[in-house]
Amino acid sequence: MENENWNKICAHLSKEISQDDFEMWIRPIELISFTESELIVSVQNSFFRDNILNRFKTKIESAIKKLFKLKVYIEVRIAKNSNTKTNHTSKKHKTAKVETTKQNKTSEVKYSFKNFITGPNNELAYAAAKRISNSPGEQYNPFFYYGNTGLGKTHLLQAISYEAKKKNADLNIIYVTSEKFLDEFVNAIQKKRVNQFRAKYRPADILLIDDVHFYEGKDGIQNELFNTFNLLIHSKKQMVFTSDRPPKELRGVEERLIGRFSQGLVADIKPPLFETRKAILKQKMVDKKIKIEPDVLTFLAENITTNVRTLEGAVEKIELLQNLKNRLLNVEEVRTQLEDVLDIGNIKKLITGPDILREIADYYSISVGDLKSKSRKKNIAKPRQMGMYLMRELTSLSLIEIGYEFGGRNHATVVHACSNISGELKSKPSLRTDYEQLYKRLSK
Ligand code: ADP
Ligand code: MG
Repeated sequence: MENENWNKICAHLSKEISQDDFEMWIRPIELISFTESELIVSVQNSFFRDNILNRFKTKIESAIKKLFKLKVYIEVRIAKNSNTKTNHTSKKHKTAKVETTKQNKTSEVKYSFKNFITGPNNELAYAAAKRISNSPGEQYNPFFYYGNTGLGKTHLLQAISYEAKKKNADLNIIYVTSEKFLDEFVNAIQKKRVNQFRAKYRPADILLIDDVHFYEGKDGIQNELFNTFNLLIHSKKQMVFTSDRPPKELRGVEERLIGRFSQGLVADIKPPLFETRKAILKQKMVDKKIKIEPDVLTFLAENITTNVRTLEGAVEKIELLQNLKNRLLNVEEVRTQLEDVLDIGNIKKLITGPDILREIADYYSISVGDLKSKSRKKNIAKPRQMGMYLMRELTSLSLIEIGYEFGGRNHATVVHACSNISGELKSKPSLRTDYEQLYKRLSK
């Protein structure tokens, strides 16, 4: 009889609230007893209890009033067999915590802020990531950053997780790849355990989802993610997403989800500039305890430009070969051994000094003659310096040859120009834009 009455209450509620809410919150409720004075039910953990009390208690009360003309006291207990008292001591929660801790232990060496090298290409994403790990949920929510493969997106995500955990061990931090999140969801549906899936992700204090471009064209999970998102944002929990492209360029992703992705901070990670590539190589040598000739290091930084993972792979390959030969490799040996991964080599063969002069002149609306002239006017001197920098980066010309291209300047002038631009690229966003535009045009 009690069960039958409870079913009536459920049927009534199902008309009052959305189907999603009903499936999520009401369906899993187990009836313990229903008398004239009280309704006692149980749920699997405190997360469910709190949400039900906050959001549905009045609805349940009015359903009972309407159906049975009763005013009852409602008590929501936590099921004994779920071995839970509070969220923090729940078994499931503990398992999740162990997982994260384990993951953090391994990422301590591999992926932290300390060994993430910053440059103009990634400093905004880095700064936001750091701030989030210090005060999750307070700013930049969600934080969405994107960039091509091998540029450190996962590294940064793991660093947030590690750092936030170090600051506050009580936080429930969940890192998951989009693929795993989808797999688990599909599995949960098949086994009719969607509630368990939700009970795992929805209590997160920080939810980090890697590579969301994976969801392009996958409808069911988008809906689930949308609901999870709303719930977490509503309770000021931090979410971070990565992708290989900006939200608005995601195809086959619902507009409302794209809107959610874009509503906090969106930042990009670009390929690192030469100086940053060098610093990354040095860091990898320290991490992996590898020795490399300084000019081999410069050679790698000059010739592997678009993917940090490839840089890292090159260092590992060099180490292997050096171990075999029991000595350090020189540049020529590295050039032959790593031919397949040297991407800029091809561009270098194609771009000439005059190409760069023409492109620079065109971009800044001056003439090639101006670039070669003695003029020190700022609107000519700055493009000239940029030209020297690009020539250093995109061709194999020596400093002397570069000086020659610019009307016979000496090599010290070229060195000065390159270091000047390299410094300003870090502090002047407009110059950086110029550089990126020119780089793009030239490497086409
Ligand atoms: P993504 O997720 O963007 O494909 P990863 O985070 O997996 O890239 O990075 C690939 C490799 O390059 C990792 O080993 C990572 O440590 C390294 N890496 C990328 N960017 C940096 C950086 N700025 N400083 C140090 N290492 C980096
Ligand atoms: Mg990744």
